[in-house]
Amino acid sequence: MEEYLQQLIDLQDADRKLDRLRSDLERIPGEIEAQQREIERREAEHRAAEQNLREIVEEQEECERRKEELIAKLAEYKNQLLTLKTNEEYRAMLDQIAYSESKIDEMDSRILELMYSQEEAEAELEESRKTMERAVKRSRKRIELLREELRELQEDVRCRTEERNGLAELIKPRYLRKYDQLRTAGKGQVVVGLLHGACGGCRTNVPPQSAVEIKGGTVFTCPICGRFVVWTEDSSFASEEKQ
Ligand SMILES: [Zn+2]
Repeated sequence: MEEYLQQLIDLQDADRKLDRLRSDLERIPGEIEAQQREIERREAEHRAAEQNLREIVEEQEECERRKEELIAKLAEYKNQLLTLKTNEEYRAMLDQIAYSESKIDEMDSRILELMYSQEEAEAELEESRKTMERAVKRSRKRIELLREELRELQEDVRCRTEERNGLAELIKPRYLRKYDQLRTAGKGQVVVGLLHGACGGCRTNVPPQSAVEIKGGTVFTCPICGRFVVWTEDSSFASEEKQ
């Protein structure tokens, strides 16, 4: 095999590894963001539990206030009762008093309900605090590991890029240019094997005579896709039935 073909194969291997490393690198920032969103989500859940408890406590305070008002009113009505002259006025005031008393009862039941709700909300808040702390700790740890992985990958990419450029320097410019052109054109592998008598890149059949020459080590450029076709350990001629 021509020396430059082996050089191109080595360069191609180096580039493939770099491609993989770079795609790993690209994946990491998204994963870090996902973990940050997870932290925010848990914190928001916890804030919602805090808000729920706060609202219950506020309603309790409001009920207590209204109950105090009703009690004051009731005392006032009872005083007024003594000053009333007519039966009608007296009965009306008794109705008023009964109404206030029923309202106070309502307030008492609501206050009791709210006490239970408060207990529940406090338990939920405690639970959500634990869940949040666990999740946040887990996510922070994960972010730390991802950042470490990111640094290692960046270092790896840097070293391998240097190696790759070292390999590229050994290759004659015209071959390197062709290699770069094919890679930039999205052809992926530039040096491919002869597979079942066809170009391993675009699957175009190679004339039998050329196939024999490829096996002998002659350079063959695929007329369709422009890749270098070489004989590799997976290579074979066209099968009988295909011909
Ligand atoms: Zn081809």
